[in-house]
Amino acid sequence: MPRGDLRKAWIRELTQFGVWLLIWGGIGLFIGSVLGCLLLASLLYLAWHLAYVYQLHYWLIHFEDGEAPEGSGVWVEIFRDFYRLQRRHKGRERHLSRVLREFEESTAALPDGGVVLDPEGRIVWFNEAAASLLGLRHPQDHSQRIVNLVRHPAFTGYFVDGEYNQAVEVPSPLNHELPLSLRIIPYGEGQRLLIVRDVSAMKQLEQTRRDFAANASHELRTPLTVLRGYLDMLRDEAQSAGKLSEWRRAIDEMCEQSERMAEIIEDLLTLAKLESRGREAVQAVVDVQSMMQSITDEARQLSDGAHEITCHAEHGLSLYGHKSELYSAFSNLVFNAVQYTPAGGSIELRWWADADGVYFSVEDSGIGIEAKHIPRITQRFYRVDPGRARKAGGSGLGLAIVKHVMEHHEGSLHVASELNVGSTFTCRFPLHRAQRRDAA
Ligand code: ADP
Repeated sequence: MPRGDLRKAWIRELTQFGVWLLIWGGIGLFIGSVLGCLLLASLLYLAWHLAYVYQLHYWLIHFEDGEAPEGSGVWVEIFRDFYRLQRRHKGRERHLSRVLREFEESTAALPDGGVVLDPEGRIVWFNEAAASLLGLRHPQDHSQRIVNLVRHPAFTGYFVDGEYNQAVEVPSPLNHELPLSLRIIPYGEGQRLLIVRDVSAMKQLEQTRRDFAANASHELRTPLTVLRGYLDMLRDEAQSAGKLSEWRRAIDEMCEQSERMAEIIEDLLTLAKLESRGREAVQAVVDVQSMMQSITDEARQLSDGAHEITCHAEHGLSLYGHKSELYSAFSNLVFNAVQYTPAGGSIELRWWADADGVYFSVEDSGIGIEAKHIPRITQRFYRVDPGRARKAGGSGLGLAIVKHVMEHHEGSLHVASELNVGSTFTCRFPLHRAQRRDAA
C-alpha cells in the first residue's frame, strides 16, 4: 500500500473514532453520565477491533490459501495488504521450488558426483552419481562426516590440509579397482562442494599410451642397433680412401642421426620405466656428494674445457631415494647446463639442506629461458628453440624425466631463468628424506 493511502486510511479511522466518541459523549450529556458513556464507547470500539484481530488470526491459520475476510474501516486495508503480501510470498515460494526441482533434476543427470558439505564436513546433500561412486546412502548418510565414509588416508590428508587447488585420486570405497578423482571447492561461509569423478577411462587411456610408448621404443631398439652396426662399418670404410670416401659426409650425418635416435629411444624407455615403477621402488640411502663428483667429471669431459664447472656439496648429507633415478635427473640438469651455456661460461652444482628441505641446484651463465616458456619446458618434446636444440642433439625428454624423478621422491623442480643471463634449476626434496652421516 502506498504511504499516502496508508495515511488517508488512518486519518479516516481516527476521524470515525472521534465522531463515535462525540456521539457517545452527546448521549452521556443527555442522560447525565458522560464518563460512563465514553468508557462504554471505548470498550465497544476495542471489542470491534478485537473481533477483527481474531478474524485475521483465524484466517492466517486456517484459510491461508483462500480469500481474505472483508472487514470494515481500516481493516479493509489491513486484510487487503495481508492478502497481497501472502500472494507475493506464495509466488516466490513456487518460483524457488521450481528452481530447486530443476537444479535437483539437472544435478541428478550429471555423470559427476556432487556432495555439499557444511563447515564441520558433514553431508548436507548429494546427487545420485555421488551415491553410486562413493556408496553414500539416502537418507542414513545425511549429516554424517564425509571423512568417516571416505576413509582413504590420501583423502583424509587432503581434507584436513585445506589445500584444495588440486584434486586427489583415491579408489572408490565400493570398488577398489575403480579410481576416483576427488576435488573440494570451498564456497560461502565454510561450506564445501566435493566433486567426484570416475577417472577409470582416463587411466586406461594413459596406460595404453604408456604401453604403446614402451613397446614401440623397445621394438625400435633392435633394428636400430643393427643399422648402427652397419653404419659404423660403413664409416670405417669411408674414412679410408676406398670406394665410399665420397659418401663420407653423408655417412657421418647418418651415424650422428642414428645416435640421436638411440638417445631418444633410451630416454623414452627411461620414462616408461619411471612411470610404471611408481614410488615404491625408492628405497636406499644415496651418497649424493660422490654422485655429484662423477657427474661433474662427466660434464667436464662433455664441456672439453669450454666451461668452468664447480661443485659444492654439504659434507655428510645424503638422500633417501632411488640411485639411478637421481643420477638420471641430476645428470640431465648438468648436461643441459653444458649444452645451453656458450663457451667461457660457468656452471655451479650445489647440494645443501635448510629448515624447509634438501636441495640440489645447477646454476649456469648460459642462454637462459624466456619466462613464457618456463611452465612448459618439462613437457615431453617441448623445446624453447626447436632448431637449435635438435642441432645440439637433445631428445626433448630430459626435463620430463627430471620431473618424474622428483615426483617419485615427493619433491619438486623449480626453474629460475633470465634470457642471456643464465638459469638455475633447483630440485627440492622433503626434509625427512635427508640423512646426515654425523647424526647417524
Ligand atoms: P633437450 O633434450 O632438448 O635439452 P630437455 O627436456 O632437457 O630437452 O629441455 C627442454 C628445453 O628446455 C630445451 O630444449 C631447452 O630449450 C630448455 N633448457 C633446458 N635446460 C636449459 C638451460 N640450462 N638453459 C637454457 N635452456 C634450457
